[in-house]
Amino acid sequence: MKEYEAFVIGGGPAGITACMYLLRAGVKIGWTEKFAPGGQVLNTEIIENYPGFPEGIKGYELMEKMEKHLSSFEFDRFTDEVIKIEHAYKDNKIKLSGEEVKAKAVIICTGANHKKLGVPGEEEFTGRGVSYCALCDGMFFKDQVVACIGGGNTALEESLYLSKLAKKVYLIHRRDQFRGYKIYQERVLKNPKIEVIYDSVVEEIRGKDNVEEILILNKKTQNKTELKVDGVFVFIGIAPNSNFIPKDVDVDPRGFIKTDNEMQTNLPGIFAAGDVRAKTCRQVVTAVGDGAQAAHSAYLFLQEKD
Ligand SMILES: Cc1cc2nc3c(=O)[nH]c(=O)nc-3n(C[C@H](O)[C@H](O)[C@H](O)COP(=O)(O)OP(=O)(O)OC[C@H]3O[C@@H](n4cnc5c(N)ncnc54)[C@H](O)[C@@H]3O)c2cc1C
Repeated sequence: MKEYEAFVIGGGPAGITACMYLLRAGVKIGWTEKFAPGGQVLNTEIIENYPGFPEGIKGYELMEKMEKHLSSFEFDRFTDEVIKIEHAYKDNKIKLSGEEVKAKAVIICTGANHKKLGVPGEEEFTGRGVSYCALCDGMFFKDQVVACIGGGNTALEESLYLSKLAKKVYLIHRRDQFRGYKIYQERVLKNPKIEVIYDSVVEEIRGKDNVEEILILNKKTQNKTELKVDGVFVFIGIAPNSNFIPKDVDVDPRGFIKTDNEMQTNLPGIFAAGDVRAKTCRQVVTAVGDGAQAAHSAYLFLQEKD
């Protein structure tokens, strides 16, 4: 069984940064990512709020640069999913789908994923009109009509992106005001292609082979309306990728991993960084900061006498 001082799980901004800091400190590490490295940023057209890029930078370009930063180091990389972690002090067993490895410290950087609406038609039409990624699927709706669901930053940003491709974008939000930043709200409200529908929820997604219409309910008036749309983009929040962690790790009610300011969980030697962590600002810049802190804390932990 391969053994490491530290094992980093996840190849988004948090995981890549944690690897870089550990490698620069001379720690023997292993790193796994279940898909290609990059994380959620790969689903983002442009990042405008990462310092150093005043014109913005395309999501995939930023992640290419981050990963390239690791290329001068030699270390074990796996393309595999972590299924389970068995915690023991400085003797953790990490079960990947293909093999098992051991590590004294583990840094969990597995991020988060989109939530589903849970309405009839959503499952059935996923990939046939229902999507969770504007960057991935937006082009299929060129000059068509789409609905975006949500009211946070992602819903606002992605509606703006889709308005460049689609003929019309309905932005459906269950409240009477958005949660997203003012700057995005202003851009959305000024955009002639975006029609905002407040106080409303999607009750059903309908169609034959592909999405053809949605049924929406106005929660204030209780009126139901059928809207003809070709696509439905769901941006209603995220849930953590934390189903493989030891059951003794403290999590919040939504399953996000609780840590202290040093990224230490309640189990010694198990650290968490980035979007998988219980925190309020889930962004690239905070994921990177968490990754650096987690690596530093893991380094200090490894120096401790057993
Ligand atoms: C549409 C969209 C737009 C966004 N726009 C912005 C923006 O403009 N600015 C900004 O700062 N932030 C933005 N964000 C948020 C930003 O992408 C995240 O905050 C950031 O990517 C979090 O990084 P992370 O490393 O914690 O997690 P992630 O990026 O989620 O990476 C986690 C990685 O872990 C891997 N993984 C998961 N489970 C396992 C497992 N069991 N085994 C192995 N690997 C696993 C995943 O495949 C993934 O690659 C946006 C997010 C989205 C979805």
